[in-house]
Amino acid sequence: MAQTQGRQIGKDQFRDRLATVSETGGRNWIYAKKPGGRFYNARTILSLFLLAFFFSGPFITINGNPLLLVNILERKFVIFGVAFWPQDLHLLVFGMLSFIVFIVLFTTIFGRLFCGWACPQTIFLEMVFRKIEYWIEGDASAQKRLKKAPWNTEKILKKGSKHAIFYVLSFTISNLFLAYIIGKDQLFEIITDPPSEHAAGLTAMIIFSGVFYGVFAFMREQVCHFVCPYGRMQSVMLDNNSINVMYDYKRGENRASVGNRNKVDTGKATLADLGFSEDATFGDCIDCYQCVKVCPMGIDIRNGTQLECVHCTACIDACDSVMEKIDKPRGLIRYASENSIREETRKIFTPRVMGYSGILMILLTTFVVLMSMRSDLETTVLRQRGTLYQELPNNMYSNIYEIKVINKTFDTRDYEIKLLAPEGGELVSLGNVKSVEPQNLAEGRFLIKLNANQLNGLQTELTFGVYSNGEHIETVTSGFLGPAN
Ligand code: SF4
Ligand code: SF4
Repeated sequence: MAQTQGRQIGKDQFRDRLATVSETGGRNWIYAKKPGGRFYNARTILSLFLLAFFFSGPFITINGNPLLLVNILERKFVIFGVAFWPQDLHLLVFGMLSFIVFIVLFTTIFGRLFCGWACPQTIFLEMVFRKIEYWIEGDASAQKRLKKAPWNTEKILKKGSKHAIFYVLSFTISNLFLAYIIGKDQLFEIITDPPSEHAAGLTAMIIFSGVFYGVFAFMREQVCHFVCPYGRMQSVMLDNNSINVMYDYKRGENRASVGNRNKVDTGKATLADLGFSEDATFGDCIDCYQCVKVCPMGIDIRNGTQLECVHCTACIDACDSVMEKIDKPRGLIRYASENSIREETRKIFTPRVMGYSGILMILLTTFVVLMSMRSDLETTVLRQRGTLYQELPNNMYSNIYEIKVINKTFDTRDYEIKLLAPEGGELVSLGNVKSVEPQNLAEGRFLIKLNANQLNGLQTELTFGVYSNGEHIETVTSGFLGPAN
């Protein structure tokens, strides 16, 4: 039976229940020991870059556009400064499909590298919130003592200050998160205008703050276990050639503590007394549980690859420092594939990887081709909603049209629309579009007048030519409503 951080999970029980769930179904709180080592240092440096990027993202503009904007409510999407409109849905679909296949391919080769090194949940939890917790409450054992202590001044001060800082941080993160959705200008308006003018925005802010606070202060690893869809899909994406954080069981087993080894060495116990066969030899694992104590997911990586593992590398660092102390080579726990340990073979380009790569290439090629075919200006002409035809003198009829023009380029574009068919029809501007600002939408209205002899019953098709700087760039059609014959 393995004694871990406040809970006991037997060697054969780990697949039956979660380390974070008690026998009565309650929560086993994970008190992870403070990690440290070369991987943790590298992750800290990377997380500083990623946090700087996350916090500055809403304020970075490219050609006047934000770096990233996902405004679902107003259907505005900007990715790396390039605006995508609802009319570009097909591009977004191919872009998203390429991204998903890329994630599947990446995970098949490198396992959950993203979770440990770049996932916002891991970065905020392990590199921000958990560091603050260590700073205020101390390492795992001090945290456990504080938990058991009565509510004295020290406990109230430590818990109170921790949660106050956690909430302020969650509020800041929620504001930035909102800035990625509605843009920084709208966010500033919500912050600076009277609350009554932005009830919806403020409500969203409060809800997001509460969600982030709940996630980082209480839910923590439960988000990875139960909420994250990427975590849920690991079992279908990984195979024996995927690179994971792995315990080298060939080198580590048979595991035995230093005390038990000494007993055997000094003749105080036999191998059989420890449950081994008489010809057994000890492996490099000294059963010190350091790898378990640092694990923020509460698992024992020596049981093999587990769905809970987010590849945070804390156990690699912990075990490496143990190996150094006992004069053994580092890497008893390391990045490796099951096959590289079991069969000592390394294979990256498996048929599966090649299949995913092929699909990704097809999707990316389609995406690039569609992007290159994307027109600079996109026009929509629709008969004004709720209107019928108007009867004019001299056997003439008219319809009113609304025009929407999207300029997808980074330059202001001149704009002109002409009626090409039926020939002889007249286009009368009611405030038509003359030019369109870069990456923007312009709207206008115009009237089309046709003679009765140009009509083709109830519906007559109109063809328009769109011109910019004298160049014909687009042909659009619409319908003209006339009297029934
Ligand atoms: S098993 Fe190791 S890599 Fe996986 S979550 Fe635990 S400490 Fe991190
Ligand atoms: S830290 Fe290394 S030596 Fe210690 S229990 Fe884990 S795998 Fe074994």
